[in-house]
Amino acid sequence: MSYNENNIFAKILKGEIPCKKIYEDQFILSFHDINPQKKIHALVIPKGKYTDLDDFCKNASINEMVGMFKGIEIVAKKLGVSIESGSGYRALTNIGNDGGQEVPHLHFHIFGGEKVGKMVS
Ligand code: AMP
Repeated sequence: MSYNENNIFAKILKGEIPCKKIYEDQFILSFHDINPQKKIHALVIPKGKYTDLDDFCKNASINEMVGMFKGIEIVAKKLGVSIESGSGYRALTNIGNDGGQEVPHLHFHIFGGEKVGKMVS
């Protein structure tokens, strides 16, 4: 699937749509999910144009990959859910139709602040 420049997260990255920002650096942007499924529900997205984790793993640079995963760790710490500062969390990414992906720009969900529950329902 080719990258759709008009997806909602692309618009957030371009500043065309506001978000409740948690953290930003040269590789990632993190913000609160608009429709939280748990007490804490954040999103971490790469600044590069990647549709999903498959695309990212195929095409991102090593620096972008490190930036993405370091970003998740930084955000978890900021939210107070990391192992170091809290009780843990779930990081999850949906990929494609069967994965239930709605927004076609790679994003990791960070769920926490309470027991997250069963892995798959
Ligand atoms: P997914 O189903 O994995 O593609 O998840 C997309 C997520 O994006 C959902 O949890 C939505 O609630 C969230 N979302 C959609 N639009 C926005 C927005 N403008 N700001 C923050 N989160 C959003």
